[in-house]
Amino acid sequence: MDWSEYTRNTYIGISSLEKALFYILIFSSIGYVALWYRGRARLWKQGQAVSDDRPWHKRFRTMRRFSLEQRKLPRHKFGGLFHIPMYIGFIVLFIGTTLLFINETTERVGFKFHKGLYFAVYEVTLDLFGLGVLFGCLLALYRRIVQKPPSLSRAPADLVSVLLLFVIVLTGYALESARIVVDSTPPQVAAWSFVGNAFAPAFMGLSVDGYGVIWWIHAVLIAAWIVSLAFGRTRHILLAPVVAYFKPAIQANVPPNVDIEQVEQGGAIGVNALSQFSRWHLMSLDACMGCGRCERACPATATGKTLNPKLIVEKLRDAMTKGSGDDLTHVISDDELFACTTCGACREECPVLIEHPIMIMEMRRHRVTEGNLRGTPAGALQRIGSQGNPWGLPPADRAKWADGLDIPTVAENPNFDILFWVGCAGAYDPRGQQTARAIATLLTKAGVNFAVLGPKEKCTGDTPRRLGEDLLFQDLAMQNVETLNAAKVKRIVAMCPHCMHTIKNEFGAFGGQYEVLHHTQLLAELIEQGKLPAPQDGGKTITYHDPCYLARVNGIHAAPRRALSGMKLNIIEAPRSKDKTFCCGAGGGRMWTEEPPSQRPGVQRADELLATNAETVAVGCPFCMIMISDSVKAKSETTQVKDIAELILEQIETPVR
Ligand code: SF4
Ligand code: SF4
Repeated sequence: MDWSEYTRNTYIGISSLEKALFYILIFSSIGYVALWYRGRARLWKQGQAVSDDRPWHKRFRTMRRFSLEQRKLPRHKFGGLFHIPMYIGFIVLFIGTTLLFINETTERVGFKFHKGLYFAVYEVTLDLFGLGVLFGCLLALYRRIVQKPPSLSRAPADLVSVLLLFVIVLTGYALESARIVVDSTPPQVAAWSFVGNAFAPAFMGLSVDGYGVIWWIHAVLIAAWIVSLAFGRTRHILLAPVVAYFKPAIQANVPPNVDIEQVEQGGAIGVNALSQFSRWHLMSLDACMGCGRCERACPATATGKTLNPKLIVEKLRDAMTKGSGDDLTHVISDDELFACTTCGACREECPVLIEHPIMIMEMRRHRVTEGNLRGTPAGALQRIGSQGNPWGLPPADRAKWADGLDIPTVAENPNFDILFWVGCAGAYDPRGQQTARAIATLLTKAGVNFAVLGPKEKCTGDTPRRLGEDLLFQDLAMQNVETLNAAKVKRIVAMCPHCMHTIKNEFGAFGGQYEVLHHTQLLAELIEQGKLPAPQDGGKTITYHDPCYLARVNGIHAAPRRALSGMKLNIIEAPRSKDKTFCCGAGGGRMWTEEPPSQRPGVQRADELLATNAETVAVGCPFCMIMISDSVKAKSETTQVKDIAELILEQIETPVR
């Protein structure tokens, strides 16, 4: 048989009227979906326009990474296992169907390309990828019907969309088998459609009318599936790439600055109506597929608080649909908003790039302005405002941590290379002071030319910013930037990831541009340069708790490990580590909230860390130190919690065990 004879018919026994009806059906479905999206676009337009002049290729890169390459999926093995074959298979089937449609059109003017080698490759490819979709659908159905993870959306439309896809592929194969039989396809041609060919014997004796019935069932299912693009989780197929493409250049956990001029002219602070969110935020709500990854990662949800990031998204989206988003105090409660540690786990997990923490911080701003933040966190804000630190201790005591260490201030050593930003915890909290002393001792031993601001240092404003008191944050940021710039600071090492994040990512808007390092980064550098000599012998076993603001929000998780292993300490990884770390519960101003032990994320985290059986828990944040130490102490008499700097110092001073 000649290669040119390898081909197939597309419409067997389907009349012109039926074809016309088919096209009407498909285009009506597309039209319905288009109208639905037009309606949603009107709702998104109530939001604030975002000015973002990034070139298209940068936007395309975001879209490519997160939508086309599905970079977030492998984070979840089971989810990735079924979504990737489904996703790739779906794209291949979509392209294949489009090519068939084009062939059908060009054939009318005498040009048929669906033949020969192209035909063979096409048939094998589509059959193969169709199996991938079936496999993915089966696993997805297993997850929905058998596993039923509580965090997965229960909306019936979500189950229907997977079922529809499954049945569409099945009827596609049935149609292939029926075509082979009805069209009396020669065996060597039919062999390329290997799945349909395998099941063709089951269709022996089928009439052309019977083929027509299967064809119509398949066509109606496709139309129904197209309509489902306006319902439930299927929406993400269209919206996820659009959301990724138009995502503004948002830095993790950096909310936009409140415009003080606007506030002075009577403008609102924060968000209390959907129209005060950006259009992009509103569009991103519609892309949520209810996968529940944010919910599973959230420390507030895990410890029984009312906050659930998935529900935040769903409630806001429902309010947008119902037109009841003019007063969000009726949609999201204060308890939900102020339970957030701003750990960033939800945004990190979200496959459609929703920025929950920023939305929460923006809503908090309004609640703070309305006086809805009460109790101990409100007290912390007052103390920061009056004393420049949340402990409420005198500013003059800020340098006491360094008593006896002979640490120069910027006035005493104006030609310093690097500024050591001690932070409020390093200055006032007894455990933080020990860490600050260890860092200063190590820097001195390594011959680093450094200085501190001493009493001139103030709270960076991290707590006010995350809690939603942006005016206080801005005031502190401006004061600190003025001090830093007056001291001609270029490079900063901070011992607190929250200070590091704020100075590095948020002081820039106030004229403060510095190279900012976490102390573990600098210490790793010094160890690798041989300035902090490693001991001869190996040390104890360590499990390292990654601080959220270091590992997840700022992507720094290699340096602390380099510092530990550089000191011959043996790291045992906790199950959730690096950017998957589980919050200690102190971020977002939660450090200053009293809560029973059963509701403390630090207690859950301590269990995980203790389960590694490491001798010591290492931390890299003074707030994690407080939360994890308290929880570990309550459960273990032998396990110690130490900052990486303390461990390095111990190794240097007592190298042989
Ligand atoms: S930032 Fe953390 S605490 Fe807040 S909603 Fe997201 S996962 Fe939950
Ligand atoms: S917000 Fe994101 S992570 Fe959470 S359920 Fe929706 S799509 Fe999934």
